[in-house]
Amino acid sequence: MNWMEKELETLKKRQLYRELKVLSSPQGKKIIINGREVLNFSSNDYLSLASKFSCECLENWKSGAGASRLVCGNFEVHEVLEQKLAELKKTESALLFSTGYMANVGVISTLAKEGDLILSDELNHASIIDGCRLSKAEVKIFKHCSVEELELILSKERKNYRRCFIVTDSIFSMDGDVAPLDKLFQLKDLYDAVLIIDDAHATGVVGWSSLEIFDLIPDERTVIVGTLGKALGTFGAFVAGSKILKGYLINKCRSFIFTTALPPYIACQTLKNLELVPKRMKALQKKIEFFKNLTRINSMSAIFPFITGSEESALKLSKSLWEKGIFVPAIRPPTVKKSRLRIAINYDHTLEELKFLAEILCSIPRI
Ligand code: PMP
Repeated sequence: MNWMEKELETLKKRQLYRELKVLSSPQGKKIIINGREVLNFSSNDYLSLASKFSCECLENWKSGAGASRLVCGNFEVHEVLEQKLAELKKTESALLFSTGYMANVGVISTLAKEGDLILSDELNHASIIDGCRLSKAEVKIFKHCSVEELELILSKERKNYRRCFIVTDSIFSMDGDVAPLDKLFQLKDLYDAVLIIDDAHATGVVGWSSLEIFDLIPDERTVIVGTLGKALGTFGAFVAGSKILKGYLINKCRSFIFTTALPPYIACQTLKNLELVPKRMKALQKKIEFFKNLTRINSMSAIFPFITGSEESALKLSKSLWEKGIFVPAIRPPTVKKSRLRIAINYDHTLEELKFLAEILCSIPRI
């Protein structure tokens, strides 16, 4: 088994070895991590809802689902949450999944099969990449947000395949930028394709859905994946789309069928958290604008990339912030091509705290 040790040694030499950090406090803007209290700019808890809880949810539903949805793990509260999520995404229906990873892997590999074509943005999330791999469809990667390249591939290749799927993150998880969804929407219509949008970092941050940015309403060939573990503060995910899609996934999607249902109290807590979203989202958007103006980092969301170039400088910078009591993680290959700090703004951050971080960042020469 010493091949593992050797590979880990190589990672260490290249400054790419990763270790788990331990939190001894609940999630929040201030956390105790590896025994030290720090101001946290690293979580996806954009609306600071992760530390909310209601005893009522646990009392009513207790902790476990006890079975998969199709056996005896489908609770009323799942159905109520699905209806609410569909309403918010402006789709006919929604189906809960246990994680966003499973939702992406499941929906892509269930819809796209051999003989089909998937067109995927080069910066899509790992779960999308894995869903594409599992699908056995032909996968073509287009340059990040390049509508031109996407259209070129479609015009040359679409006719050679039975069905076609365009897959993209709406807000990209490491860059915070937004996909050209208006153009992708047109291309899906023009080339008879299905558009699959991963709204993980958009839901509850830029609106209820990223499509609101472009005044678009989802149609029957739009599939939206949303997660509950980021702005909505709990855990799990959902696929929003047509009623037929929901029925198809319930019957065919392996990552839905062969897994224990989301604990019902989580669905209940998510419903409670949804009530707090509108007010918090507005406040968060103001904070995002404030931070953007101070730092001049380009972002359409709560995610701000501070590109450092080398792995070493990302680690060094993260360490020097840590020494000042601020936690911003260094993100390195293979997660990203260019090493960076990934800063995430949360609802609970005060303007003073945002200013404190912005001033430090502004004092560092940018590449
Ligand atoms: N999609 C994107 C864009 C993500 O960033 C993530 C999580 N980091 C996921 C999907 C997976 O969601 P989950 O954490 O619920 O598995």
